[in-house]
Amino acid sequence: MNNVFKKKSRDLKSLPRTSLPHTFIQHQFPPPANFVSLQHIQNMTEKFTFADFEIPEKILDVLADLELFEPTPIQEKSFKPILSGRDIMGIAQTGTGKTLAYLLPILKNWKYNKNGNPTVLVLVPTRELVVQVAEILEKLTSTISARVIGVYGGKNINTQKLLFNSGCDILVGTPGRVMDLSIDNAISLKEIQKLIIDEFDEMLNLGFRPQLTHIFEMMKSKRQNILFSATMTEAVDEMLDEYFANPIEISLAKSGTPLEKIEQSAYKVENFNTKINLLEHLLKTDEDLSKVLIFCNNKRHADLLFTKISEIFPEEFDVIHSNKSQNYRLKAMKSFQDEELRGLITTDVMARGLDISDITHVINFEVPEIPEQYIHRIGRTGRADKDGKAITFVTKKEEVPLLEIEVLMDKELKIIDFPESVKINPTKIASEKEEIVMKNPVKVKLNEGGGAFHEKKDKNKKENWGGPSKRKAPKKYGANRAQQKAKSRSKRKK
Ligand code: AMP
Repeated sequence: MNNVFKKKSRDLKSLPRTSLPHTFIQHQFPPPANFVSLQHIQNMTEKFTFADFEIPEKILDVLADLELFEPTPIQEKSFKPILSGRDIMGIAQTGTGKTLAYLLPILKNWKYNKNGNPTVLVLVPTRELVVQVAEILEKLTSTISARVIGVYGGKNINTQKLLFNSGCDILVGTPGRVMDLSIDNAISLKEIQKLIIDEFDEMLNLGFRPQLTHIFEMMKSKRQNILFSATMTEAVDEMLDEYFANPIEISLAKSGTPLEKIEQSAYKVENFNTKINLLEHLLKTDEDLSKVLIFCNNKRHADLLFTKISEIFPEEFDVIHSNKSQNYRLKAMKSFQDEELRGLITTDVMARGLDISDITHVINFEVPEIPEQYIHRIGRTGRADKDGKAITFVTKKEEVPLLEIEVLMDKELKIIDFPESVKINPTKIASEKEEIVMKNPVKVKLNEGGGAFHEKKDKNKKENWGGPSKRKAPKKYGANRAQQKAKSRSKRKK
């Protein structure tokens, strides 16, 4: 949006909001020179805007500064239920505006807690998400009295404890660090009235269940629970059953439905090295690939791809994964966000929940082993009201997981013919060679939880015909990523 528009919308804030329909005020001023029909005005008035939420003017101003005027469907649908104080289970894909969906109703009736202990706790799975959520919260609360603190592991815990000296109202953090700070009595969770768990499915995928249950024990049971998940997995369903009584379900799309705005296609490719040739070809022939997020299935492959692609496109790409320092990752993401880099190579854990705007293409250099990850990956493009493209490179061996993804989405990917001009490189990389020699894979015993193996509780064994279980993903996976990978691998080797 250009600055003129922004200025006009800001000037309009001085007008009484009741004198004209909000949408008219915010989007159609000055009125077009030609005649505006009654129908036109009616259409405009039917549009819902943030002003209709009756949130404080100061927050509306912050939203206007961010050029946000109309709520997304999940924001519109979940506002009243969250405001009602009931427990909520929201199913919405990444990039649909979930963060504001839970923050706006909470800030609408914000009350300052003079005791200095947090009353709102937002748990997210990754450090990057902590930074992102804390940043937007700081903007939204810049004009109201609310102290926001973001905490995550990997930073000195003693330094973080000092942050709480002058009180905290809204705490954003990863489960491990919040648990540690609470055990050390640096924070008290006794006054938490609203617990938000974002990316609940990913949190359980990452094996955070023990930390979550520990945190639940440190809070009073009388509180509002607001849960958001991109997919409804077995682990989420089980946890809901055990800890959350009858949450109101708010769902935008059935679990696994891809965002409609994303154009999805795939190439069948011989092997890893040929994928590099194909990527080079696409980058050289298609200028539209200007802000590209590339996913590999593990760090080794991400590093390998980065080395090769940097030889062809020096300084145009960077790579982030869990072996890179926090500073390195934040710096690389900023360069990518600011379009100093054309592309960023990454792995699933790193990119989950990242909010980088205007990503033109997501490239699945490798097909993810867990079908739901595909939805999370492609959700990085086509965010909010934008279009996006997702291209997947598929080897023969990856056709099975691709099929699982298509079953999950109930949608087939468009297969594009492999370009004739791209050379096939028959040289296999180490992991492709390993796949052939491994004749007798060791059977892995899979535990259900993060810790010791235990029988499922009786109440969790029962069939649940109503509620979220209706939308269970077709496959059953273990509770954490390592187990899921092992299960998926051993299944395919059989
Ligand atoms: P989230 O799903 O919360 O990560 O949000 C994804 C992206 O959508 C972020 O870049 C937000 O700034 C953007 N966004 C959130 N709400 C809206 C809205 N109502 N209109 C346009 N963009 C939005």
